[in-house]
Amino acid sequence: MISKRVLLSTILITLAVILTAAMISVSGGFDSVPQHSQLKARALAPDGPLAFETRHGTIITDDESKARWADERLQSAVASFIRNFGTAPGRGVIIELPYVSYAKAIPKAQRRWTLPWMSRYFGSGDAVKAGPGGHHFDNDSGMQHELNHLFFTAGVVPSTKPSQYGGDAPDWLDEAAALTAESPEAKARRRADFRRQVCAGRLVPLERFIVQRHPLIASPAMQKFIAERRAAAKGTPTMMTIGANQLGVPQHALQDFYAQSAAVAEFVAEISGDPRILSRIAQSATAASDRPNERYPSWTDDLTVGDQPLGTQFATWARASVRAGGPGCAASRIVN
Ligand SMILES: [Zn+2]
Repeated sequence: MISKRVLLSTILITLAVILTAAMISVSGGFDSVPQHSQLKARALAPDGPLAFETRHGTIITDDESKARWADERLQSAVASFIRNFGTAPGRGVIIELPYVSYAKAIPKAQRRWTLPWMSRYFGSGDAVKAGPGGHHFDNDSGMQHELNHLFFTAGVVPSTKPSQYGGDAPDWLDEAAALTAESPEAKARRRADFRRQVCAGRLVPLERFIVQRHPLIASPAMQKFIAERRAAAKGTPTMMTIGANQLGVPQHALQDFYAQSAAVAEFVAEISGDPRILSRIAQSATAASDRPNERYPSWTDDLTVGDQPLGTQFATWARASVRAGGPGCAASRIVN
């Protein structure tokens, strides 16, 4: 079995959890053509890193080619965020992990979000072993995904409780916002994961799925790990790896959660015809409750057409997407 890795990113008091597995190198796949403007750089200290000012934020690293790579990720992530939420996320900082103490050199107003990133993943060249499922499939998608988690928390649904996963939004929605920023290749792999999930009878009924906790965060072992690492980090942004097999989370649980989050995002966009449907759902799903994961939000009523419950429509859509996706699976193995 291929071991999974968990990257933990502690950003000030917010702790974003990242599961990475099955990272492969994927070329290209940007949602838009990145703009290559001249990157202005300044040294932050005589022997310190460089701060590259880009259109959407500051990139702190020691090498211009790495800064250009991160800038391309940032531009793609911002384009995706604007498509979903109709507004730019504001400026922030991408910082190579060894230089994380230099983040404070950037004025607070230019630092709406901060993404520390490990050197080994800082660039598209370092391919990590391939495997099934997981949070990140490639370095490009990994950074774009995590940027959109930060944009979502900074600009759409803030995190009001320390140590929670993402913002106050339901976990699937927080994940969906990030998944839409991934490369087309990664999205295709999520769809393939979803077909396998449906074929294996593991599709979670929509009513249950949209109030489900992220399986990793629901794991007591993960909660303990988070608490320990937060205490050790003492508020300094950091990023760590552990083996997910230590967490007692079933192999397919995470893969299914990401695949179904992406599928629900596609489904709601399709039936509503609204490219900013995630923004609408974010507003309605969080407006009336501080415990959104335990509430059946009204947005499902808003999207329901006719007498059929939205969950039934989703199950029908899921079966159709399996058939449309290729060889699929034997009909007898599809379970509602
Ligand atoms: Zn995520």
